[in-house]
Amino acid sequence: MEYNPKSLKAEEFINDGEIRDTIAYAQAHKNDTALIDKIIEKAKLRKGLDHREASVLLACDDEEKVKEIYDLAEQIKKDFYGNRIVLFAPLYLSNYCVNGCLYCPYHLKNKTIPRKKLTQEEVAKEVIALQDMGHKRLAIEAGEDPVNNPIEYILDCINTIYSIKHKNGAIRRVNVNIAATTVENYKKLKDAGIGTYILFQETYNKKNYEYLHPTGPKHNYDYHTEAMDRAMEGGIDDVGIGVLFGLDNYQYEFAGLLMHAEHLEAVHGVGPHTISVPRVKHADDIDPNEFDNSLSDEMFCKIAACIRIAVPYTGMIISTRESQEVREKIIRLGVSQISGASRTSVGGYTEKERPHDTEQFDVSDNRTLDEVVNWLMRNDYIPSFCTACYREGRTGDRFMALCKSGQIQNCCHPNALMTLKEFLMDYATEDTRKIGEAMIEKEIANIPKEKVQNIVRERLVKIEQGDRDFRF
Ligand code: SAM
Repeated sequence: MEYNPKSLKAEEFINDGEIRDTIAYAQAHKNDTALIDKIIEKAKLRKGLDHREASVLLACDDEEKVKEIYDLAEQIKKDFYGNRIVLFAPLYLSNYCVNGCLYCPYHLKNKTIPRKKLTQEEVAKEVIALQDMGHKRLAIEAGEDPVNNPIEYILDCINTIYSIKHKNGAIRRVNVNIAATTVENYKKLKDAGIGTYILFQETYNKKNYEYLHPTGPKHNYDYHTEAMDRAMEGGIDDVGIGVLFGLDNYQYEFAGLLMHAEHLEAVHGVGPHTISVPRVKHADDIDPNEFDNSLSDEMFCKIAACIRIAVPYTGMIISTRESQEVREKIIRLGVSQISGASRTSVGGYTEKERPHDTEQFDVSDNRTLDEVVNWLMRNDYIPSFCTACYREGRTGDRFMALCKSGQIQNCCHPNALMTLKEFLMDYATEDTRKIGEAMIEKEIANIPKEKVQNIVRERLVKIEQGDRDFRF
């Protein structure tokens, strides 16, 4: 198999030989200061790096150079994303699953976990609970089960979610994380108005992938790996990729992730909208120590920094699998979206106490959404509930064009402030509101165009008077 980023065959665009050569190359050059300087200089142009160059930076352990890499990642994040952090929550629809994934408690052979699938009434209740926290953006999650969770069920749920308008609440963007499917089904998801289609590769290492997915449709590595091409063919141009760190060695996954991004760009003219960096966690009958590829918090942060530098236009997502402490470190280095107040069980949001029985994994950050918003602002980040881009048709290459033109500051920044204002009015505690109002006042000055500043001020008054959902 020859490496070919333009190929539509999984094993050619994610090429085992190329990944192994890349890792060897990175090891051989990890102390090559001249080369590292050259790569850092290239990265400063903010046009990204290829998987080989980025792998050299990841391997580099020269303290001074690593600091330069971290500083550059932080700067690139500031340049492209400012100090905004977009918030979302996962919504688990069903844990019925016919796959045999060794790391996931929803695997078919798990007879201890109660199986649950939300009815449309239950979906509505979950959505009301999520709206009452202040969420505007969801990622729906389901196991793979053509009988219990067919595409029609997923589409019904999306319709229900968008239809619920409770008090001032609304879910304005539904991202979808369901198993690899057909072009026809991707078209249906597109027509249902989804935001991003998210699918984690779990691991790019085919041999290990097949071992970790011994049974069920997910066993098919090629079908899974080529899913994003089918999604694009079905008209979805915002796709989110990721690996489950801990399953295979991180150098392999890192190179694989970037090769996947390069492939999407080469074939479809647009890279992934987001990259997620989940790590395997304890869950029901799953012990993460059984996979001996766990990585230190430090290396995890370095991966995030190198992703930030390699693909500056791609959003990066960190979930509540990580603790507050790790989230604090990693956000600084390049994360643009985080989940908050997540419950990873089916029907979890309508329960008073966090239920554990149907959980997909243990959550490390257990704070409420108000606490997360408060914490972000205390760390000088603007919590954003913005969902404007795809509703304004700014997806795929149009979104990338916005990023590249630097217009984000006239668009995303005011949208962040206006959606934060909505949160403060409708859901925040007194303390959060106080901090938030001061932050909005301070941040209006950072909108480059005076005209836009004035419009924002007018709209903030209107939000106070009860209007909602303004956007640029
Ligand atoms: N079932 C869908 C599929 O086949 O892609 C995706 C939905 S699944 C609910 C979402 C993701 O959770 C999986 O892709 C996997 O990466 C992650 N996950 C599964 N088990 C996990 C665990 N024990 N710890 C952390 N994340 C896990």
